[in-house]
Amino acid sequence: MSKKQFQAESKRLLDLMINSIYTHKEIFLRELISNASDAIDKYNYLSLNEQNPVNRDDLKISISVDKDNRAMTITDTGIGMNEAELEENLGTIAHSGSLAFKEKMDKKDDDTDIIGQFGVGFYSAFMVAKEVVVESKRYNEDKAYRWHSNVQDGYEITECEKASNGTSITLFLKDDSEEENYSKFLEQYEIEHLIKKYSDYIRYPITMMVSREEGEGEEKHLVVEEKTLNSMVPLWKRKKSEISEEEYNEFYKTKFNDYADPMKVIHTHVEGAVEFDALMYIPSHTPFNYYSSDYEKGLQLYSRGVFIMDKASDLIPEHFRFVKGLVDSQDLSLNISREMLQHDRQLKVIANRIEKKIQTELANMLKNDREKYEEFWKNFGLQLKYGVYNDYGAHKELLQDLLLFTSSHEMKLTTLDEYVSRMKEGQDVIYYASGDTLEKIDKLPSAELVKDKGYEILYLTDNVDEFALQVMMNYKEKAFKNITQGDLNLETEEEKKAVEEKKEANKDLLETLKEALGDKVSDVILSTRLKSHPVCLSTDEGMSFEMERVLSQMPNGNPYGLKATRILEINPNHAIFNALQTLFDKDKEAVKKYADLLYNQAMLIEGFEVEDPIAFSNAICDLMVEASK
Ligand code: ADP
Ligand code: MG
Repeated sequence: MSKKQFQAESKRLLDLMINSIYTHKEIFLRELISNASDAIDKYNYLSLNEQNPVNRDDLKISISVDKDNRAMTITDTGIGMNEAELEENLGTIAHSGSLAFKEKMDKKDDDTDIIGQFGVGFYSAFMVAKEVVVESKRYNEDKAYRWHSNVQDGYEITECEKASNGTSITLFLKDDSEEENYSKFLEQYEIEHLIKKYSDYIRYPITMMVSREEGEGEEKHLVVEEKTLNSMVPLWKRKKSEISEEEYNEFYKTKFNDYADPMKVIHTHVEGAVEFDALMYIPSHTPFNYYSSDYEKGLQLYSRGVFIMDKASDLIPEHFRFVKGLVDSQDLSLNISREMLQHDRQLKVIANRIEKKIQTELANMLKNDREKYEEFWKNFGLQLKYGVYNDYGAHKELLQDLLLFTSSHEMKLTTLDEYVSRMKEGQDVIYYASGDTLEKIDKLPSAELVKDKGYEILYLTDNVDEFALQVMMNYKEKAFKNITQGDLNLETEEEKKAVEEKKEANKDLLETLKEALGDKVSDVILSTRLKSHPVCLSTDEGMSFEMERVLSQMPNGNPYGLKATRILEINPNHAIFNALQTLFDKDKEAVKKYADLLYNQAMLIEGFEVEDPIAFSNAICDLMVEASK
């Protein structure tokens, strides 16, 4: 068979590995062991389902070295790869580890600090080897194949001899240089050390032939024997108090392909109706593909330490889909399929407990480590808000106390509970306002008086925010109130009366303005929500402006053309109102021109586009010319 070239992206990644000046090249061993362990998992699971259980003793990974040839071989008794799989898995970078790494690299030029912690996968072998040979035989297939590459010349796949299923990977180490000593990877001591450091929890024995001296004096002789280098106790089966933070973090990074430590570890053992161990993590950053459809939620599922499946999605509710981790339970059948899982009663119980556990942990973080929680919120807060909104609010009880919103109170993030605890005597609603940015909302004309009266306002900047509040309807019996919608009831009885009177006295003026605007507005009124600003736009209790905007941004638009009603409000205490009154007495027609100007200004303030910007600008110029006369 002729040589093939690596696919372009693979070549890039390989070059990066070969030329890497990264100092912890030792992680190649962790990667290859982790692949071997995955392969044994798959084999073990497959044979369980075929009612043809394997002998546990046959499941192992062994390491051997050949100092003369500067070679190290890692052999597993896993599922193996056939010709097509060798081609697919080792010639392209379609698989998880390296793909995620590549995405990261595309955004960053400096490789040195992220290679080490990242699950770069199989290609990391080329950090230490100049040549790699993979011999593999797929379970239940007859032929075995050899994949061979020195990178420069591409790779080739040929048939070979191999007795049983599994894979053996031989690395021919690079020559030592001043900067780098590769020979150390041939030393028994170094290998033992690396396995302990990175792969102790691997659930299959990792063995090596080791030699030690035995006997005294004359009797002294070398004994060579097979030694298991790892303790094999899965991390999640060990006592919490005996696991270091570093162990938790290392495990997370290799297992879940992240380059950064997690922000939170949740390790729990549950007994009762069902018994299980769960080891879960909250990432410290939003995964690059988190908001795309190729992000898959779920926890790895084990039964009595035997791997069953990756990403069992029923274990994690949508609103906590950022959680990564695994569950190991005695109470699940080994022969369970993905389809059966959905209906498994035990699994439902486990999923409920897990949901509750995550909620409690987040609530504790919020209570005890606010700074960390806000960091979490930055990464995944949006998800929680969608969680409140989704399924018609079915999860609002669970999630509402985990929500944060920026508020006018010190412009900081606040919980709803904190908001309510600061509410003024007699305040019976939770005020909120929406907009693109906090600054814009803070400057809204309708926000001024509310703040002035000492009420706090929640500032909503995400599309989902208002929808989430709508679904919640109220919090601790306090309804949510949009400051640009309906009556705010901010004035005293006296003030109310005064406005009523003014309204009556200026009926004709308001009527004329309304007529001039036609169907652009449903009404023109004297405002009770404005302090220093001349005009604003408000809407009735139905749909808000924000909702109209969000609807029109949806992929299929706003099919029913739903719009918020527009009410033009004029500040009766502003000089502009006097000007309108004076003008109205003099020239009713001129007032009509002003109506448009006021309306357009109000539209701009609310963040809408002006329908005819040219006409608007011309009208302002006319006014300026007029003023100079
Ligand atoms: P990842 O492990 O994240 O999928 P790797 O680069 O480490 O990425 O491995 C690529 C793929 O090659 C694996 O997904 C697996 O299908 C295959 N593979 C690697 N090593 C082995 C092995 N020892 N036995 C069987 N398959 C393997
Ligand atoms: Mg891997």
